[in-house]
Amino acid sequence: MSSQLVILATLFGAAAGAFLPRIAYRLTVPFGDRARSSCARCDRPFPPGAAGWIHAGPACCAGGAGPVAAMSLAGGLLAAQLGPVPQLPVHLLAAIPGVLLAMIDLGCLRLPDRLVGTLALGAGVPLALLAPGRIAPALAAGVLVGAGYLAIAMLPGRGLGLGDVKLGAALAFLLGFAGWPAVAVGLGTAHLLNGAAATWLLVRRRAQPIPFGPALLAGALAGLTAV
Ligand SMILES: [Zn+2]
Repeated sequence: MSSQLVILATLFGAAAGAFLPRIAYRLTVPFGDRARSSCARCDRPFPPGAAGWIHAGPACCAGGAGPVAAMSLAGGLLAAQLGPVPQLPVHLLAAIPGVLLAMIDLGCLRLPDRLVGTLALGAGVPLALLAPGRIAPALAAGVLVGAGYLAIAMLPGRGLGLGDVKLGAALAFLLGFAGWPAVAVGLGTAHLLNGAAATWLLVRRRAQPIPFGPALLAGALAGLTAV
């Protein structure tokens, strides 16, 4: 492991993370709604076009440092565990839609298809080009997990949405390129985290739906870096 690589990847994560609050805020809307055109707190409209999306810092008058922290952590962990392999930049870039999805799911319990698709194809195509021999197991992992989660989502009262099914399948597909142990650790960690969140809410006597996306994405990071 080279410390320069870890520092560079952490800095990349922090820099990329700084641009995420505005995008996540604008996309945190109920299903079928258009992206927010103005700040809900101060009513200030966002500039039209790319200028309204590409913005470093808080979304508008509010916003935390969460995405910067999450992206730097992901960048540093990935670089430390994977080292200077050609897959590293692929995963670093995949962390961008990953953190966006986690933020949006936390905000409004949604995982927009376009972002899940961007994550699956944006990372899946280069990973397939880098390791053509892993395409079949990766696809098998995606189909298996997708089918399993779809079956769970069909059960009444399980709280697993179709967005979770699609993201679970996409992440299993991507983890499949790293091998079956990565898929298993990724899913196992996701369910452990989800169970911990459910227990926490139970202890606090708070009845509220728990977004599964952040746990799935954190699990995927664990699957990539712990195996
Ligand atoms: Zn504002």
